[in-house]
Amino acid sequence: MEKCPRAWALKYGFKRKFSGNFNRHLINISDWSSPWRLMQRALRGVIIERLDLHAKGKDWPENDLAARIRHRIIGSLERQKTTVKLVELRLGNISKLRVKIENEELNRLIEIACYRFHSAMKSEPIASILRGDIVEWFSCSRLEKTKLDRWDLHVAPDIVWRQGRNWHLLKLTVQGAAIPVKHRRLEINAMVLWGLSRPGMPVMTNRFVVETLTWNRGEWRHWAEHAHDKLVDDATKLIKADMQAMTELYHKMGDACDLSQLPLADQKRTCRNCGHIDTCPGGEDLQRGRLEQSALEMAKASSN
Ligand code: SF4
Repeated sequence: MEKCPRAWALKYGFKRKFSGNFNRHLINISDWSSPWRLMQRALRGVIIERLDLHAKGKDWPENDLAARIRHRIIGSLERQKTTVKLVELRLGNISKLRVKIENEELNRLIEIACYRFHSAMKSEPIASILRGDIVEWFSCSRLEKTKLDRWDLHVAPDIVWRQGRNWHLLKLTVQGAAIPVKHRRLEINAMVLWGLSRPGMPVMTNRFVVETLTWNRGEWRHWAEHAHDKLVDDATKLIKADMQAMTELYHKMGDACDLSQLPLADQKRTCRNCGHIDTCPGGEDLQRGRLEQSALEMAKASSN
């Protein structure tokens, strides 16, 4: 929500108001990703796949890695084509989301993903899991939901393991800061809410260790900290504040769903990776869009 309230509201804000096709299209458009992002998603997918095969005691076909990554990227591009076609049908024009990726570029992305994959296999805690030093562990789906008041949160970790009395909750981040900034640190601590609500897991925050494995400046960086009540409380407050902000945005739109009331992105680069780029004033000219929006707001305020 920090990056673009409008994109955030378009992705999450309509779920309760509309259902069926409208919502599905909106979610598909919101989920549109550039080839670079698709490569990162494919990388995360194969890392988890590798671990899951290990858990089942199955062999990992090493030679297949590039083909698996290619398959994932191409599959995602194909699925996105339907979304792009729909956008173009509505626009009556060619969409900016239409990407034609040359084979050479695709090969380059696959090469990058393979390199990062091999590097991940040597990084902790993955290396310890594969060596068998960590025995009690499992991977989680990011779609798993955790209840907080009336909200369903997606705060599940990617990998969970037990060492001694402690449960470790790890988030795999395919690109980011090696040491999470304050806001991100709280988001990471929200994983403890998942742990506390899960049957069989401890009921005390200090029995959890939150961790990240993040690709940063050419290598995977492992970061960990012991959870405690204050951090988890602050994380809960942050989530509630975000939810409150979303509710306010939602009301701001009014019954007519007036999107012009929603603030646009802070930075142009956010728009470059956004599925709403064709239909949003920020996608055309962010600076002008923001100016027009503040003029509208001033006019509205002075007429009240
Ligand atoms: S195009 Fe830019 S301003 Fe518009 S919703 Fe997307 S990120 Fe936000």
